[in-house]
Amino acid sequence: MKATICDVGPRDGLQNEPEPLSVQVRAGLVNRLAAVGVPRIEAASFVHQERVPQMAGAEEVAAGIEPRDGTIYAGLVLNEKGYERLAATALSEVHFSFGATETFNRRNANASVDESVAAAQWISERAHSDGRTFVVSISVAFGCPFEGEVAPTHVLELAERIVAGGADEVVLADTIGVGVPRQVSELVGGVARFGSPAGVHFHNTRSTGFANAYAALHAGATIFDASVGGLGGCPFAPRATGNIATEDLVYLLHGEGVETGIDLEALIAVAVWLEETLGRELPGQVYRAGTFAPVAG
Ligand code: ZN
Repeated sequence: MKATICDVGPRDGLQNEPEPLSVQVRAGLVNRLAAVGVPRIEAASFVHQERVPQMAGAEEVAAGIEPRDGTIYAGLVLNEKGYERLAATALSEVHFSFGATETFNRRNANASVDESVAAAQWISERAHSDGRTFVVSISVAFGCPFEGEVAPTHVLELAERIVAGGADEVVLADTIGVGVPRQVSELVGGVARFGSPAGVHFHNTRSTGFANAYAALHAGATIFDASVGGLGGCPFAPRATGNIATEDLVYLLHGEGVETGIDLEALIAVAVWLEETLGRELPGQVYRAGTFAPVAG
């Protein structure tokens, strides 16, 4: 069994840092993740820098990447304009994200859900003719901070429209960390049934992130977003927390006999470097506990 891990730390993680990091440090993080065998990295976000100052200079981050064979480097876009910026870089994979609810999508992307679905189709065509892979994430698929519960039938209907519009993969995102395994099985199983590779994106806000990842694995998900050290969440917003930690997920998957291609010890060293760089402890647990090595005697 194999799983593809996409580290979204340089994007989903760092966009929540109180102080923007230099493009050198951001590109350095991407290069460190690639060096330990992370097969996919979401390196930058092409959003307006007034909206997300932490992601300013996405083009420079992309230019600072030292491409490694076997690593896929992706950028996030929310609209056509974002894609035009990404298209001027060497990033080979496009991640497009939109919200499952009108309120969330209006706040996040300043568009209606239908407008975002239309944008996805336009970007899909452009990306494919430019030789790029096109991956679509459906945010707040497990619950919305503004509209509450989100019906699985609604999410699956959106996923079906997205796949019909040309997406190569669909990622179900639990943006605010409210999901439970029962929902995961239903949604991942639903996406897998209409023939698209299914990905998942979990935040560990309510400690269900790893149970959800385990459920997703057994429901047929093949792509797992995570962030090194469990980076993410905002120190000024106590209820916001990071993605599931990549090294914690790797520990779980390797223990279950799932191949990731990642060198866990080397990945832990990246989390330690990141902790030193940010000057605070990160939410991940495996980088502090270490891998399991029985003490002799
Ligand atoms: Zn996220």
